[in-house]
Amino acid sequence: MNERLINEVTKGNVMAFYKSTEWNKKRLEILRRDHFECQKCKHIKHQLTRATVVHHKVHLRDDPFLMLDDDNLISLCDTCHNEEHPEKRIKNKRKHFRNEERW
Ligand SMILES: [Zn+2]
Ligand SMILES: [Zn+2]
Repeated sequence: MNERLINEVTKGNVMAFYKSTEWNKKRLEILRRDHFECQKCKHIKHQLTRATVVHHKVHLRDDPFLMLDDDNLISLCDTCHNEEHPEKRIKNKRKHFRNEERW
């Protein structure tokens, strides 16, 4: 449990976490555990896709105490990761919409 990082994330400084050596070590550990395969593609879509991200099942901001918890971490590909973050997609859509309006 890393109190400094939990503090930073609680304050909203998520980047401090993603840049930390603790996270980068853990991230590699999880990718290795999952054989660098996207776990959602593997188990749900029955495809083999190379994992590029390690995702927090309970999102980092929702529970910073699970930030380095193996059971809360899963290797995903970009596509599946975006599906896990509909909030990001909505933001992108809004941006796109604004651009269209401008033209
Ligand atoms: Zn996938
Ligand atoms: Zn994620």
